[in-house]
Amino acid sequence: MLYQYPFSPPWLCTRVKNHLIGFTQTAILDDMNAKNTRLWLRVELHVHTAASTDSLVSPQKLVEYCQQIGIDRVAVTDHNSIEGALKAYALAPERVIVGEEIETTQGELLGYFMTEHVPPGLEPMEAIHRLRAQGAVISVAHPFDRVRGAQWTAEGLLSIASHVDAIEVFNARCLGNHPNQQAANFARAQALLTTVGSDAHSLVEIGQASLYMPPFEDARGFISALQYALPRNRLSPAYVHLFSTYAKLVKRLRKGKTAQP
Ligand SMILES: [Zn+2]
Repeated sequence: MLYQYPFSPPWLCTRVKNHLIGFTQTAILDDMNAKNTRLWLRVELHVHTAASTDSLVSPQKLVEYCQQIGIDRVAVTDHNSIEGALKAYALAPERVIVGEEIETTQGELLGYFMTEHVPPGLEPMEAIHRLRAQGAVISVAHPFDRVRGAQWTAEGLLSIASHVDAIEVFNARCLGNHPNQQAANFARAQALLTTVGSDAHSLVEIGQASLYMPPFEDARGFISALQYALPRNRLSPAYVHLFSTYAKLVKRLRKGKTAQP
């Protein structure tokens, strides 16, 4: 992924640089597509549905919204579940990638092109083995974000680096750019591919962070295309975290109601 804008002077802040990167690369790609030289795909790699405890988005609404705003491929990555992803895939197999955000005994992994659920609470290497066994692509979700529940230690992250395909170097739900910058540095040092994701728990967040990629059909094609991917990233405002808090509350209330005699 072309992550650094080669002409940005060092005094520009990261947020301005990201805008410049997005603006320039999008303009280049729009031009390429206009000339019909190659139709690249806009790909969103980190989205939740109601199968997560902290989202209320139905798979149907997700698929419709992606079509509406021009997301050509969307990876549904619910917390420790592939149920929502399978439902979305059944509705739009050409648009949906079945994925999962798996909580390990350390931080979280992102699996793509999955066919089987991987349960939470496994040692990272055990989760990686289960993902590899089904031919999935593996990225590491927001590895340096210290405000998330699950946390990677430095040793833990180093020990899995050679066993994963990519690192998520931009997560739109981070509260600042520092964790994303650290993730990008780590990916570069380890010579790993990079992914980005909105980590959308509501419809309005979808597309905050996406990649333009050459066309791909399966896990192998995805890995090849990822090498040429161009990011279009924007941090989400902090208030989007209220959407997931609200979703958790609604689900707790619903559960309470159904539990009543
Ligand atoms: Zn997530």
